[in-house]
This record gives sequence, structure tokens and C-alpha cells, in this order.
Amino acid sequence: MAINGTTTVIRNGTLIDAAGNPPVPNEAVVIEGNRIRSVGGLPPDVNLEDGEVNVIDATGRWIMPGLIDAHCHLSFGNPPMVGVPTAKGTTSPEFSTLRAARNLGRILSSGVTSVASPGGTWFIDIALRDAVSSGLIQGPRINCAGRFISTYGSILDNEPSWAGSPEHVLSKLCNSVDEMITEVRRECKHGVNFIKLADSQFGETQTISKRELEAVVGEAHRRNTPVTIHSRGSGSTRDAAQAGMDWILHADLATEADLDAVAEAGCRIVPTCTSLRRALELGVASGRSETELDLVRHHIEAQGFVMERSRELGIKVLCGTDTGNAPSMPYGELHANEPEILVKEGRYTPMEAIQSITKENAFVVGLENQVGTIEEGRLADIILLDADPITDISVLKAGRHVTMVIKDGVVVDRDNLSPNNEPLAFNQVGF
Ligand SMILES: [Zn+2]
Repeated sequence: MAINGTTTVIRNGTLIDAAGNPPVPNEAVVIEGNRIRSVGGLPPDVNLEDGEVNVIDATGRWIMPGLIDAHCHLSFGNPPMVGVPTAKGTTSPEFSTLRAARNLGRILSSGVTSVASPGGTWFIDIALRDAVSSGLIQGPRINCAGRFISTYGSILDNEPSWAGSPEHVLSKLCNSVDEMITEVRRECKHGVNFIKLADSQFGETQTISKRELEAVVGEAHRRNTPVTIHSRGSGSTRDAAQAGMDWILHADLATEADLDAVAEAGCRIVPTCTSLRRALELGVASGRSETELDLVRHHIEAQGFVMERSRELGIKVLCGTDTGNAPSMPYGELHANEPEILVKEGRYTPMEAIQSITKENAFVVGLENQVGTIEEGRLADIILLDADPITDISVLKAGRHVTMVIKDGVVVDRDNLSPNNEPLAFNQVGF
């Protein structure tokens, strides 16, 4: 195993650098410590025979950047477990933190070396992030928000109004600009990487006004903190883009005019197609009614337009799955489903879809130009596959064809990291 301060060389195989070059036969990817030193010819000062160099033979393999899930919730309290009290997924920050820490191994083992977590309970995600970055536990790099900022009627405002938003609830009710700004300041104080706003569940109404969106973006940006929003609706998507949102989650019902506004603002979109398709696949077993499944079908159709039109307009479309938002969205299984959907339903090329889940996704984990490509100077997050993702993009899914994961220059010990699957119950509604 390589450790920081040592040299690792990946020989042979086919290199997909995700930087914009076509796949090429690989001679040598040289890793020094946690960064990529060089790609291409073997530097003359690297002696493969001196016993100091860790040599990985990738003959018959495809070498590409570690995958990034731009939309993965870590602390919603999933999977539910026998004997553990739950209310809306979780009642105990202590237990939830331990469970989430264990789930991280499954994510990393599947080839996902970074995730953006747009919302969680308490400040669990921040603790997970810090535990990973300090080497206390193993997991993907984490960039995270705190609790959603919501208003009455926003997604996950599930409690009756007299109950407010108890600490274990995912959203923090803020029904005025002042309350929103206070919450932005509180979350920034606790070290969030970005702010998450929550509009209505299916875009059936707009629950946050443009004035409020602008106020949150203004406060957060003044504190060097990006902002994203759960927005499926037309008006909320347009207003969010014009208010300066850094990226929008979903945007299902965006019209051509809304997408023009998104393009003009330079805002990115994370359509998050995987969760709706998963719901349809499971049907009523996912906990959704037939009426709601009809709605899901309608949104899936709408997402097809959003993907295609966004590509034409040059909007950056990123790959996120909503893994962990419900028991039906298990860790380690679905993080790489999105590229296949981009190819099949959005007319992206396989290479474009690969760049989306690597190079472009680096933006939402705050590591643009640091991870997501195999180039000189980048952090050494690399996976090896035993099948060609350009020929068949679906080979990225569920880590089934991943034969090695390197994160931060270190080969991940996958055998000792990925716990066995716990039984899953599909009795909770996701979104
Ligand atoms: Zn989500």
C-alpha cells in the first residue's frame, strides 16, 4: 500500500483522464504522496526496480478519476435498523453519526471518492467530513450543508405548525428574511460548506420568494459560502438562478425561458434523475401511492427535456442521485446511475457523462481543478475498472466493475471497509 511521501506508478491499461482527451493507452500515471505528479511517459528519475516504488499493473483495465456524487445525504437516518427508535428517520444524533460513519465505507468502496451532501440532521455531516479529512475514519471527501432552510409548505416541513421544527427534523423553519439570515449565520458558524434551501416537494407551489432567495444568497456569499436549493418548480428555478444560486437541485419543471435564465446566470443544475426512476422501479413498494407515482412519471418526462435543452444551452449538468434520502436509496449502489441516464435520456456522449460525474462535479465538492481529472498536480483520486465505460456507460454502476480505488494517493482497503448489506425496508417516502 502506498502512503503519503511515497511513489506509486500505474502502468498499462487505458487512460480516461476526463480532462477532454480521448481514451489512450497508458504508459505511466505517477503519484507522489497524495497528488498526481505526471501522466504519460515514465519520468527518468523513477526507477521501478528499486523497491521503493509501488507499481500497479493496470493491464486490461480502464483508469479514470474517482467518481463524485453531487447529491448524497449522509445523515437522514438510513438505513432503518431493527431495534433503533426512529422518527422521520432518526431521533439520536449519536447513533445517527455512528451509522453514517459506517455507511461511508460502502460509498468509498464503490468507487465514489467525493460527495456533496445537501442537507442533513444536526451538524452530523460536518463531523463526518472532519473525521474523514483528519484520518479518523475512512470515507469519501465530503462537502456539506447543514439543515435545509425552509418555510411553511416547503419539502420536509412535515410537523404541525405548533411543533415548529424540532432539532431532529431535517429542515429548519425560517418564515422571514431575518430568520433566514440568522440561520445562514448559525450554519456558517458551525462550518457548513454551503447553504441548502428547500422549496416545495414537487414544485406544486413556490414557497420561497425571490426577495428571500436574494437575501440568503447575499448573506451566504458575503461569507464565501455557496448556496443551493431543492427546486422542482418553474418559478422557483428561474428566481433561484436570477438570485445568484450556485447550483440548483432538480429543476424538473423548468421551461425553455427558465433554462435561458439559468444559462444566463451561469448556474449549474443537478437534475437528480436516479431517485425518481428508483421510485418508479419499486412502485408502491417504495411507499408512494399510485397518484404520486403518476406525478413521478410526469417529472421523469420533464427531466428529459431539461437534460437535453440544458446541454444545447451549455448549462453544466451534474450527476447527483439523492442516495440516502430514503431506505430505498441504499449507499454504494446508485451513485453512478446518473451517467447512464444522461446518455440514454439526455443525448449526452458517454465521455460527456463521465466528465459530468468527475470533472464537472468537482465544483459542488468545492474542489474544482483539484479532483475529477487525471492530470499533473491534481489530487490522486483514481479508480480502475475491468470494463470500458465508453463502450457501455452502465459499467460504472454500483461499483460492480471497480477493481481498485485510490483516494488521496492511497489504495483503499475495500475488503475491510464495506459492511454487508443490512436488510432494507421500503416503507418511507423519499423525494
Ligand atoms: Zn436531496
